[in-house]
Amino acid sequence: MLQQTQVKKVVDYYRRFLQKFPTLEKLAESNLQELLKMWEGLGYYARARNLRKAAKIVVSDMNGEVPTDYKTFRKLPGVGDYTAAAVQSIAFGHVHAAVDGNVKRVIARMFMLDSPVNDIKFQSLFQEKASFLLDRDQPGTFNQAMMELGAMICRPKAPLCTICPVNLFCTAFQSACQDQFPLSLKRQPIPSYYLVVAVIRRDEEILILQRPTDGLLGGLWEFPCGEIDKVEELPEDVCCRIIQDSFNLQIEVTGFLTQIKHAYTHFKTTMDIFECRYLSGEIVLEQMQDYRWVKSDQIDQYPLIGANHKFLSLV
Ligand code: SF4
Repeated sequence: MLQQTQVKKVVDYYRRFLQKFPTLEKLAESNLQELLKMWEGLGYYARARNLRKAAKIVVSDMNGEVPTDYKTFRKLPGVGDYTAAAVQSIAFGHVHAAVDGNVKRVIARMFMLDSPVNDIKFQSLFQEKASFLLDRDQPGTFNQAMMELGAMICRPKAPLCTICPVNLFCTAFQSACQDQFPLSLKRQPIPSYYLVVAVIRRDEEILILQRPTDGLLGGLWEFPCGEIDKVEELPEDVCCRIIQDSFNLQIEVTGFLTQIKHAYTHFKTTMDIFECRYLSGEIVLEQMQDYRWVKSDQIDQYPLIGANHKFLSLV
């Protein structure tokens, strides 16, 4: 469930999204770049790509009608158990319990479950308990109520038990141990990487690259970059070497722009950004999908990765 501050942000995106793509047909025939540009800043870009893929399938193979049975809907790109249960119950009234992190927390407390909520082994246990509680007559309303209960009342810290509508049935509250639930497995520490980023200028133009469509941040654009794994090398030298090795371009570093930190879901990065000048070479793309030499006032037309936005005003 989204935090309240994020909800505001997402609502604006949602409205713009529906204005631009009011029907499945419009979404199916959309240009991926245009879609990613609209999504820019939200993160989770695979969702945007999957949504478009799913719209294409529905339009081309399903007569433009969203499947109303769980199994067919579940097979669409980007649809997992949670999304399938939420959509099928809320949109079509089908009896499926939607179990996300908030719902698991409520269930762990209500039943005093000592199974870690983030251990995939116990997913079916939480699903089973949620299905047991599910209101068969109003599954959509029930699922929304559970999500809301987890987000607003049964919060991760300091749950508001005294005003909770289910406190009479909550074994953790009745035993005064709601603070001891849920249990979680300790997360592995998130790895950190150190990267150099090259803002390469050739006359009035700057080089940007497009990431492969089906990977992390797929389809988005970025300034060329690479990881430093040898701490004894100077970042400026590494920058030239990486651009030479990865893209067959000879450059020189003309200045240090800034350093930024950026966290992704599974790792965090520190990036040194360098101003560079193109010297020679024809670009070769092995790991990237496409490239453009663009004027600085044109960069904004491309959906850029979030980390690059942190220093774009300096470019
Ligand atoms: S009584 Fe407290 S712990 Fe139990 S479900 Fe309600 S908010 Fe959560």
